[in-house]
Amino acid sequence: MRKVRVLIIGSGPAGLTAAIYTSRAQLSTVVVTGKQLGGQIATTHDVDNFPGFPDGITGPELAERIKAQSERFGAEYDYDIVTEVDFTKGSPFYVKTQNTEYLADAVIVTIGATPRKLNIPGEEEYTGRGVSWCATCDGFFFRGKEIIVVGGGDSALQEAIFLTKFCTEVTVVHRRDTLRASVALQKRAMENERIKFVYDTVIDEIHGADGKVNAVTLRNVKTDATEKRDIAGVFIFVGYDPNSGIFGTQLKTDDLGYFIVDDFMRTSVEGVFAGGEIHDNYFRQAITASGQGAAAALSTVNWLGERERQLQDLGETPLAATGD
Ligand code: NAP
Repeated sequence: MRKVRVLIIGSGPAGLTAAIYTSRAQLSTVVVTGKQLGGQIATTHDVDNFPGFPDGITGPELAERIKAQSERFGAEYDYDIVTEVDFTKGSPFYVKTQNTEYLADAVIVTIGATPRKLNIPGEEEYTGRGVSWCATCDGFFFRGKEIIVVGGGDSALQEAIFLTKFCTEVTVVHRRDTLRASVALQKRAMENERIKFVYDTVIDEIHGADGKVNAVTLRNVKTDATEKRDIAGVFIFVGYDPNSGIFGTQLKTDDLGYFIVDDFMRTSVEGVFAGGEIHDNYFRQAITASGQGAAAALSTVNWLGERERQLQDLGETPLAATGD
């Protein structure tokens, strides 16, 4: 059983930034990274709006830089996945990963959200063979080809614009006749000659041959007319679901599964804090997640200090503080 003062679950901008603050406050800190360091920014090509990088920076590089900054103060990284948590008994909290059991005086949950699927025939079968959720990872494979981007939000348009670096034509398929994306992104996408829009339309099925996507069935939701269209790839950007499943009912969530936190980033369990897209379904920016991670960490530092004073008055020591 490894004992730490602060365990951070998730290594997106929120978790990485929280690690800077808690380790700099001299609290032993371990970040359980999840599948990949950086979370969603690991699959973001150009981060153009994170302050301090006038020429932009790639997502993976930004993650590595924040990690390095936290390591300077002693934060440690565990490249593992959390499989079980027990918050029912209060602090110290039990957290199990695939390889380690932790006991942590405080926990900061920055586990983020996962891109949604369409749940249509062919989607799973052709994942990684023409169906993708990551333009940065897979765009290059579609050089000189025609592809579809599904969705009408900021992600769909931003990624559609990026994909025109590789693809001859990018068709944005949106289920309504009005885009959800910001006006600025809409303008940029509409000015791009390689981007076409198909409105009021959904994909009913993704088809393939020889293990690769080669067509989709499109359906107009107003007329119900269907059309089979030859296409090399389908990129899906239809929103996100919070990764709150592992916590069961231990932490309060809203109807969509996002954690409910107060202004101090406190969850419904004392000593468990949260930041980033696990509670924020609105801003969803690397910089806002970073800010929320910093706030969660500051609240954690304050809460641990207060708790330590109370335990000292009782002649006790915080359990995890007794070290590894
Ligand atoms: P989003 O804003 O929730 O948009 C999701 C899009 O997918 C919507 O157009 C939605 O259609 C469509 N959709 C949802 N389920 C669908 C389904 N089953 N089939 C077909 N279409 C479906 O998600 P997002 O674009 O990922 O953005 C999430 C948040 O991150 C937003 O707050 C956004 O502003 C922010 N963000 C910002 C930037 C930026 O500032 N550069 C970049 C990326 C994301 P409806 O419109 O009909 O609901």
